[in-house]
Amino acid sequence: MPLYNHQPLKIYNSLSGEKEPFVPVHEGNVGMYVCGPTVYSNVHLGNVRTFMSFDVIFRYLLHLEYKVRYVRNITDVGHIVDDVDEGEDKIAKKARLEQLEPMEVVQRYTVDFHRILSAFNFLPPSIEPTATGHIIEQIEIIKKIIDNGFAYEANGSIYFDVVKFNEDHHYGILSGRNIEDMLANTRDLDGQSDKRNPQDFALWKKAEPQHIMRWPSPWSDGFPGWHLECTAMSTKYLGNHFDIHGGGMDLKFPHHECEIAQNEACTGHTPVNYWMHANMLTLNGKKMAKSTGNNILPGEILTGDNTILSKPFSASVTRFFMLQAHYRSILDFSDDAIVAAEKGYKRLMEALSLLKDLPTSAQSSVAIEDWKQFCYDAMNDDFNTPILIAHLFEGVRYINVIKDGKETITVEDLASFTTAIEAFVFEVLGLENEKITDSSNDKLEGTIQLLIDMRKQARENKNFALSDQIRDQLLALGIQLKDGKEGTTFSL
Ligand code: AMP
Ligand code: ZN
Repeated sequence: MPLYNHQPLKIYNSLSGEKEPFVPVHEGNVGMYVCGPTVYSNVHLGNVRTFMSFDVIFRYLLHLEYKVRYVRNITDVGHIVDDVDEGEDKIAKKARLEQLEPMEVVQRYTVDFHRILSAFNFLPPSIEPTATGHIIEQIEIIKKIIDNGFAYEANGSIYFDVVKFNEDHHYGILSGRNIEDMLANTRDLDGQSDKRNPQDFALWKKAEPQHIMRWPSPWSDGFPGWHLECTAMSTKYLGNHFDIHGGGMDLKFPHHECEIAQNEACTGHTPVNYWMHANMLTLNGKKMAKSTGNNILPGEILTGDNTILSKPFSASVTRFFMLQAHYRSILDFSDDAIVAAEKGYKRLMEALSLLKDLPTSAQSSVAIEDWKQFCYDAMNDDFNTPILIAHLFEGVRYINVIKDGKETITVEDLASFTTAIEAFVFEVLGLENEKITDSSNDKLEGTIQLLIDMRKQARENKNFALSDQIRDQLLALGIQLKDGKEGTTFSL
């Protein structure tokens, strides 16, 4: 019997504002769509946090033995600067500024995105579709929305008619916004726009002559609106009614609100059972963002190359730091916080390395099955990773007291405990045992020792030019040799 039958999961649904029992549309299968990056610049650590939240959700669903189809798109057209309808496409703007083809911009930052996610041990999604690869599907959806009377054409562009839609649907159902308030609080259209109402949003935009990213359509040569791509790609791969749709909290409005409206206008029913929103990573109390420059790049964490950082931190330490907060809580980044996370991570890894040598007894004095269920309960409660981590440290305590002979464990319980703790740490949280760093340290130390021996030999042969060269070049790399009575030592 699959694990999900014994471990009932609850998910906080942003649509209802409640934790709800998770019941997939098709038993044993989960369809999950997460809005991916707009590939016009390097992802920052905030973006990584949102994708990590969903990576862990994906990992836990797999751990529960669901068959998961996880779709995460790449936005390579249609995302207008400032998230409005009038203005320049983010990718086209970057291409203009850097004198590149838009697809060169897309390729550069898609490659960077993949490189970063693989450095941080993300599982790849099942499908990673692009907006430009689904123009035909987007045009088909627009046709249906027009046929159903919820969109209109103006000068070659197509707009979604929010007021008409709201007559017998609810625009604002996800974000809790009220259309009357929205209309009352927005300035009247300045006459420059073709929209009937300021809340209407573009499904298709006619391209100006200088606009490079353009496709033919029944209405004009142009390009699709940003919200439409996710409706097209989610339903193409997951069906008109699927389980989970996720993204960062800042996408709730207008992006996801508009997705719901588009789906309902097209098919007549709501597309998604569970809307999930991951909260923001902040720096100095403000949201990390590409546009404001208030951000850290993931690569800078690994090299330590940022004035905020006292030293480099590994990918697993960064993961551990992020997963110590629940995905729906705001997390503020600071050097002190990640230094503390590093200590915790090391303590966990050290304890895990003791598992294979723990003594066993005829009786267990620790309640392993209860402990295991506490770990599951934490994850079943809307993926509560901080509570899971607290239980993992209870596991660390078990390891230490058993090692010291203060508590006992049977062979069977030890096997069950080892399988469970390793599954939660490596499979579910996606942490890696960074022995690699130790072994690369061993290699470095071995290499330096070899150079010290060669330098000693050079001096014995009176080849001082070579011995000085070894000393000076090591110093240039930050490795200082110290000659003493006991021989030569070094400091890194
Ligand atoms: P973008 O490429 O700007 O569309 O963002 C990609 C994803 O990162 C979206 O789901 C955003 O909601 C999310 N995101 C953007 N900024 C932050 C942040 N500071 N913290 C967490 N997630 C963020
Ligand atoms: Zn989206």
